[in-house]
Amino acid sequence: MATLGIPQNTINILQKYHFNFQKKWGQNFLVDTHVLEKIMDAAEVTKEDCVVEIGPGIGTMTQYLAERAGEVVAVEIDKNLIPILEDTLSEYQNVTILNEDIMKADLNKIVEEKNQGKPVKIVANLPYYITTPIIMGLFEGKVPLKSITVMVQKEVADRMQVGPGTKDYGALSLAVQYYAKPEVVATVPPNCFIPRPGVGSAVIRLTRYEEPPVRVENEAFMFSLIRASFNQRRKTLANSLSNAQNLSLSREQVISALEKLQLSPTVRGEALTLRQFADLSDLLK
Ligand code: SAM
Repeated sequence: MATLGIPQNTINILQKYHFNFQKKWGQNFLVDTHVLEKIMDAAEVTKEDCVVEIGPGIGTMTQYLAERAGEVVAVEIDKNLIPILEDTLSEYQNVTILNEDIMKADLNKIVEEKNQGKPVKIVANLPYYITTPIIMGLFEGKVPLKSITVMVQKEVADRMQVGPGTKDYGALSLAVQYYAKPEVVATVPPNCFIPRPGVGSAVIRLTRYEEPPVRVENEAFMFSLIRASFNQRRKTLANSLSNAQNLSLSREQVISALEKLQLSPTVRGEALTLRQFADLSDLLK
């Protein structure tokens, strides 16, 4: 089968199957062999790896993964893509295609069946409309994984790797940085896709920490604090946390904890580091 990373080969397959793009599923297919090589290099895929690909599309990246990995599991929601994938991946014995919604798929079970529960690598050109729930689901669902190397909207990649005091800093930055080390490995312009997306893209690698970089007594409570802090971004932490009904905290309790951490009573969530959120969580719980 011809390499689908070459635009004309992708066009031929789309025409052969009279494929209709579904905008609602974020279908923008990658057609740039250099970008594909870069993703493979960043993910460091070897024959030792079992790779889970989310949204294989017509199988462009899956071909690259199948050449390099021991095992590939590709989860695709669009049933119209399944016969195409069976065609474009027919020569590979190490690929399993699942016609499922990634938001409903039991990834822990898939990892258990396909890799005896050992950590997998996630490699994908993600559907942008569900990037955050996919990444959070992987981390919070405790899916055994070594790394996540994905194409996302450029702006979202920025949010994942920034620190306090910048406009992009928020709940996603803190969550990602609690679980993994983020590195943007490439920026990718719209002309590398068919059809072209309306936004710029970037490839980000998230390398899972064996131990989180900060210790916290109650992880779930810390993330409730973080979410409440950024729900009302412009408010002070004392206000946004005492307004959050699920937390049952008074303004006084929050201010007293902030004082213990030598933080101003009017500080906003966007100024706190992950370490400070962990300490605040331990004081307030
Ligand atoms: N991997 C292909 C490529 O690079 O050319 C396609 C990437 S395209 C940006 C995103 C893919 O994710 C599409 O094939 C789309 O149908 C699929 N997709 C969208 N929502 C999904 C979901 N909830 N579960 C599984 N796949 C999904």
